[in-house]
Amino acid sequence: MKNKISRFIRKELLDFKPYNSARDEFVNDGRDMILLDANENPFKSDHNRYPDPMQIELKNRIADWKKVNIDQLYLSNGSDEFISQIIMSCCEPSNEHIIILPPTFGMYKVSASIHGVQVKEVPLDSKFQLDVNTILKTANKQSKIIFIPTPNNPTANSFNTNAIKNIIEGFSGLVVVDEAYIEFNNQPSFINLLDDYFNLVVCQTFSKAQGMAGARLGMAFANRDLISFLNSLKAPYNLNSLTINAAIQRLDQQDLVKKQVRFILKERQRLEIAFSEISFIKTIFPSDANFLLIRVDNSRLRYNQLLAQGIVVRNSSKNISCGNTLRISVGIQEENNSLISALRNIDI
Ligand SMILES: *Cc1c(COP(=O)(O)O)cnc(C)c1O
Repeated sequence: MKNKISRFIRKELLDFKPYNSARDEFVNDGRDMILLDANENPFKSDHNRYPDPMQIELKNRIADWKKVNIDQLYLSNGSDEFISQIIMSCCEPSNEHIIILPPTFGMYKVSASIHGVQVKEVPLDSKFQLDVNTILKTANKQSKIIFIPTPNNPTANSFNTNAIKNIIEGFSGLVVVDEAYIEFNNQPSFINLLDDYFNLVVCQTFSKAQGMAGARLGMAFANRDLISFLNSLKAPYNLNSLTINAAIQRLDQQDLVKKQVRFILKERQRLEIAFSEISFIKTIFPSDANFLLIRVDNSRLRYNQLLAQGIVVRNSSKNISCGNTLRISVGIQEENNSLISALRNIDI
């Protein structure tokens, strides 16, 4: 089985023998058992037992929702943990590298650095789209993963679907399509293409539209061999029972989530119109996400002026091609009203 994925993963992990936790060795057949296998406190409370290491109940629910098989699904302590795991599992420190496409999400590079893995950067073009030719020309035998967040953070736009497909088809390593903002975008998910592309990995999160950033829950979807390998390397109890229970409840509230998403999109449009009347806002970049990237006359000045009025935005200016930009999340109505008044106050 490992043969099919051996080109993706670190050579020294090919014969890896995973740790077996107590709960891994016993399969519950539905009977009420007396659990004396894991040195837990036996007095019952909501959380005296270790959580299910394979998160079967939650995975079944997510598999139904996303229309995948449960063995195509890896759950993580936020997407951050998945990003770290996939880099650690696939890239040999010093020798091998990942490819990122700046301006891009900051965690890919941070995670690679922590694991001693090199990073090659291929900037987006002037429209913040993928430079497919340069990406494919930059890739070589040591390139293990290309990270493509779409819609992209911090630029807010989504990438051309065919361009992403061309990268997946032209690259022999893994392509991670990070769909953290997929609920705000009307394009179909790359999850639908998992059967077509063996080197495709898709990740999504409960942190954005799902409204559970504090619970830390990420989902990764890929071919079952790779998922099985990722599961064998993970910390046995990487998801805690509070998070598992909260996520199961959230899955019953998808109508509410959809309503919130519609509201956020309407508010985003209202902000765009208000921003277009502020003289120091020079560009409002097109957004497919729950935030707007804007270019202003002086980002540090405007950032500080907003801060003085009690409003915290992100100064995204240090990213390549993002000089004098601010990244602003869409809030609830009153928050957006306050933002608009604050911008008007300083627009003199
Ligand atoms: C916010 C974000 C994430 C989410 O990470 P979590 O660890 O799940 O909170 C992942 N990718 C991108 C591009 C993001 O912007």
